[in-house]
Amino acid sequence: MRPNSLHAADLAHMVHQQTDLDAHGREGAVLIARGEGVHVFDTEGKEYIEAMAGLWCASLGFSEKRLAEVAYRQLLTLPYYHTFFQKGHEPSVRLAERLAAIAPAGLNHALFQCSGSEANDAAIKLAWYYHNVTGRPAKKKIIGRIRGYHGNTVATASLSGQPHMQADFDLPLTDRFLHVSNPNYYRFGQSGETEEQFSARMAAELEALIEREGGDTIAAFFAEPVQGGGGAITPPRGYFDLIQPILKKHDILFVADEVICGFGRTGHYWGCETYGIRPDMLSCAKQLTASYQPLSALLISDPIHAALIEGSRRNGSFGHGYTYGGHPVACAVALETLKIYEERDIVGHVRRVSPAFLDGLGALGEHPLVGDVRGVGLIAGVELVADKATKEPFPPAAKAGLLVQEKCHEAGLIVRAIGDRIAFTPPLIITAEEIAEMCARFRAGLDAAWAVLR
Ligand code: PLP
Repeated sequence: MRPNSLHAADLAHMVHQQTDLDAHGREGAVLIARGEGVHVFDTEGKEYIEAMAGLWCASLGFSEKRLAEVAYRQLLTLPYYHTFFQKGHEPSVRLAERLAAIAPAGLNHALFQCSGSEANDAAIKLAWYYHNVTGRPAKKKIIGRIRGYHGNTVATASLSGQPHMQADFDLPLTDRFLHVSNPNYYRFGQSGETEEQFSARMAAELEALIEREGGDTIAAFFAEPVQGGGGAITPPRGYFDLIQPILKKHDILFVADEVICGFGRTGHYWGCETYGIRPDMLSCAKQLTASYQPLSALLISDPIHAALIEGSRRNGSFGHGYTYGGHPVACAVALETLKIYEERDIVGHVRRVSPAFLDGLGALGEHPLVGDVRGVGLIAGVELVADKATKEPFPPAAKAGLLVQEKCHEAGLIVRAIGDRIAFTPPLIITAEEIAEMCARFRAGLDAAWAVLR
């Protein structure tokens, strides 16, 4: 490595996020220089299919010029303004209006932030605020799920069920955050248990927790329609149908974390539509701007909005907001992104190519390393196992997932190993031909890993 190179500067000064910093210190980083369609190129010129769309987010790929142009025009017109103190600007108003039109029924109001973490953090604050203002101040606890991923703030990392995001950070804040089991049927379904029976067991566990804690102490339940950071885990059949009446019975808000699922990923506009979820709040980000700008939205119901107005009467104002929340450039890019989704019928496209995606990966279920392939729309998880018949996992020291990720990388494919589950969420614009190439490169990565692990 040359002393003044980009890689040397990276090692010397850059703290990477969600990274094994010890390994980074020894091995350095892959630095991405440019993108084109579903492909990215590193600083050495090597080309990859980006089968994770970055971080489950670059829905329109890496070279959509219309988004660059709309950002430039907005920068020339009004590069910044805020939404505090009864001020605002057209891009945020038009985006709130558009989101209300396309949101699941009843979610008519939008709060804007810069990230998914902030949207979920706001949802936690609003759950407390709503219950306080409406006379149920004992409702404080928030229920998440093991392996759930809701963000990195103090509250959202507490809510997430990700041990590495809590260890040594003094998290979770245990008096407020509870967790129920991970609904991964393949891994946690018991011998002879049907998927429906597994869902019923998960729902019974949730109800028992609520009854043990007291429903009058619980403010909200958070769930990703498809769990992303937990390993791209689709819910078992009937899961959300069984859970929702339990939450209703105990007057517990349902917050749908659509940070990954929103805007077509699951083959419907919202994951909530795919799974019949009727949320009280919905957080979205990532594909809201195709990730060309940092922006998230928290969509809230009329009763929650009414509580915010009532709270302003009590407290003098709604005491919450971010300098960059609803940034005009980000909102203009989001409006253009939603226009492109509509013009190109992006949900229809996802449905058309989804069979090629799921069948292509499904065919790799035959590979000796693969125990399970499961997905919906353009999101899927592939679970690696040491023994297909018994589902026995690899010992953690084998780092089988990381090895497959590394071998895929060598084959020109960017995937994400979450433990021994390999996640796929390619840009929504991916074509059937590109999916075939993605699967071919994945097979090459699996074969190369198998040569080491067998
Ligand atoms: N919620 C889900 C489901 C996510 O997958 C993520 C990030 O991947 C977040 C929230 C946090 O979003 P951000 O990284 O924008 O803060």
